[in-house]
Parts: sequence; C-alpha cells; structure tokens
Amino acid sequence: MLKVTKFGGSSMADAGQYRKIREILGSDPARRVVVVSAAGKRNKADHKITDLLYLCHAHIQYGVDCTSVFEMITSRYLEIRDELNIQLDLETEFAALKQQLTSKSISQDELVSRGEYFSAKLMAAYLGFRFIDSAKWVKFNLDGTVDEDASYDALRKQMPLKGGAVIPGFYGIMPDGHIRTFSRGGSDITGALAAAALDADVYENWTDVSGILMADPRIVDDPQPIPEVTYDELRELSYSGAQVLHEDAIFPVREKNIPLNIRNTNAPEDDGTMIKERFDGDHDPHRFITGITGKKDFTIISMSKRGMSNQVGVLHKVLSVLVRHNISVDYVPNGIDNVSVVLPTEAVAPHLYTILAEIQKEAEPDTLDVHDQIAVVAAVGRKMAFRPGISGKIFAALGEAGINIRMINQGPDELNIIFGVDNRDFAQAIRVLYNSFVK
Ligand code: ASP
Repeated sequence: MLKVTKFGGSSMADAGQYRKIREILGSDPARRVVVVSAAGKRNKADHKITDLLYLCHAHIQYGVDCTSVFEMITSRYLEIRDELNIQLDLETEFAALKQQLTSKSISQDELVSRGEYFSAKLMAAYLGFRFIDSAKWVKFNLDGTVDEDASYDALRKQMPLKGGAVIPGFYGIMPDGHIRTFSRGGSDITGALAAAALDADVYENWTDVSGILMADPRIVDDPQPIPEVTYDELRELSYSGAQVLHEDAIFPVREKNIPLNIRNTNAPEDDGTMIKERFDGDHDPHRFITGITGKKDFTIISMSKRGMSNQVGVLHKVLSVLVRHNISVDYVPNGIDNVSVVLPTEAVAPHLYTILAEIQKEAEPDTLDVHDQIAVVAAVGRKMAFRPGISGKIFAALGEAGINIRMINQGPDELNIIFGVDNRDFAQAIRVLYNSFVK
C-alpha cells in the first residue's frame, strides 16, 4: 500500500504545522511520499513565501534592493528549522541564492521555485526521509506540457527502497536544463504526477478545509463537506463556479484510476472528500444533490423567428457570429421558434451592439432581446439521473421563495440541473436549494 500525500502552503506555514504533518504520516505507514508547497500564510495578514519570491524578483528587475524581502523569506525557514531543532545548513544555500539574485543570474521561475525547494529540504530533514529534487524528475516538453513517461520513469528510479521521500511541488526542468514552474497552485499537479508515477493506492491532498464543500461558505453558513464525488461531478462543479482542484492536477490520477482524497491537516480525523471515477455503494441514499454552485454576470441573447423550427441553419448563423467574436457559449436553451444563448457578460459586453447587428442581419429574427445581470446556478449530483421529481422539488422550493427562474437547462447525462436567475437572487437561490435539500 502506498499513499502519496501533498501538503499545501497553509499546512507548511510554521513549525506547529510541521509537527502535525509528522503525526499524520506517523499514523499510517503507507504515507511514504510527501509533496510540499512553499510556506503559506500563518494568519490573514501574513504573506505567502511564493508571493514574496515574486516580489523579490520584481525588485531586482527594477534595480531596487530586495534585502528586506529576502530576509523575510529566509527567516521563515530559519525559524521553523530552529524551533524544530532540525540539523540542516540553510545559510550557505541562502547566501548563494542572494548572490545569484544580486548578479541577476537567476530566472523568475527558478527563484520562485526555491519556496518549495527549501520547504522540501527542511521537511525531509525533519522526517528523516530522502529529498528528491523535482528538477531531477518532472520533465517538461518544449511546449510546457509534462513528458509523463520520462518523468514517471525518472521518479521511480530515484525512489528509495526503504523509508520515505519528500518532493518539492510546483516546478520541474525544461529540456535545456532551465527550471520551470507550473501555474500558481501547481504543487497539486506535482502531487498527482508523483501518485501516477508510483501507482499509488491513493493521492491525499492535505489542505485547511475538511474537503470540498457542498456550497460556497461565503453564501451558506457552515456548509457540509461532500463525502464522495465522481470526477465527472467535480468537473461540473468547477465549470459552474466552484473553486476546486485544477484540471491538470486531476488528469494524471484520473487516468490511472487512483482515488483522490482531500483532507484537512488541522482536522486529520475528518474523512474529507473522496474523488473517484465511480462509487459502488451508496454513502447516503437520501441525498440526491452532491453540490450546489454557480456564477454571476451572464448575458442572455434571445431571439424568436416564426417557423424557425422548420428552417435549416438559423442557429448556425447565430453561433457563427459568436465564433467570429471569439465568444464561448455556455448554454443554449431553446423553444420551438426561439433560441437563447447564455454568454459571460465580460466577454460579450464590449462587442454587444456589433453582435446584435450581425445576428439581426444574418439570422433575420422577428425579435431579438438582451437580458443581462443573470446568474447561473447549478445543482450537481450523479444520483439525480433517472430519478423523477428532483427538478420539480427544486423549482417548487425556488417558487416558494419568490425567486423567478429565467432559464432552465439540463445536460444529457442528467448530472446537473442548471437555471438562470437575476444576479440579485443568486445567493438566495443557493441558500434555498441548500436548505431544502441538504439540511
Ligand atoms: N507555492 C505555489 C503557489 O503559491 C504553488 C503551490 O503552493 O501549489 O502558487
């Protein structure tokens, strides 16, 4: 049994968090591979080491001295080291890095990658695990994608036969030997790659919440975490607005059918959220909705044209106009002789009048209307499929709360029910759904 564990910035923020991690690892011998982020914030007012490193690079770029920022960074690591009594010489590496900085001989990517590098060095020394540098195994192609086969091979070769390994997240190496980082939050990707490389039984992603929440905690008070979610549901949730893991962090483990478990470093006794391709048993037969999410600020362009249902190509003409303006269409609800396109306002607003004129000219509708300030709400749940009555309940609950529904849409796989409401009803719609279906 092998579990690859990844600890995010808040789990790496100070010595106390390091102690928690050691306990978490000690409680399960299968947790032998640890991927770490740079130290994150210790409190709301604090700074992430990665942000400070970007700031440092910007200073140098504009010829401004960055000594004080650099010292904020190094002192975070030295504090952790000294509090935990870790025997590790960091000073020599810090001095060499400072030298590279002042002589401007370090790239931005290489500099910011040092956040995870020093985290991993410290954690490896603390745990007595082997340090495996990601510059030695995460191999990028020239186009910035990861060469998975070469990377997996390289990691397997470096894994110790006995004991554990600590791996820095967020970066790898280009074919020319330069360090390259992933986009922000990219340590999640490193963790997924390590889990896939080592054919782990599970990829545990440790953070500061007890899993993916059923609704946005800024809207719903204390929402419950989702115990089990499929990869398809997760995609629906993130497409519709939920802040979950980056697609690239899911792909490597999904491809290998490795379950992904989101856990809370500060509450290790909680089960967190388990993400898998499918679930055989039914964890909670009474719950049909897995999660509720949504986004504000959509624009609906609606048109009607008598006899449209018998004409070929009207929808094609409307969509062609949008393609020309490079606007991606979120939903296309339609009736017999009318059709609407639901578009992100941000993308459509700058060209709205040109688009309307072109649709008018090319599709020749009888009516053409625009509604903006629309929010889209999605109820996602694999158990809604083939189960009658759910949408009835959803719309009854919204109706009782006096919320007017502007648009309804359901994907063919019945994994979601999506509806549009006015922006001002957005939060209330989510609360009504949550309270009627979850509590
Ligand atoms: N430290 C990097 C960031 O803040 C990567 C990560 O933590 O995933 O984006």
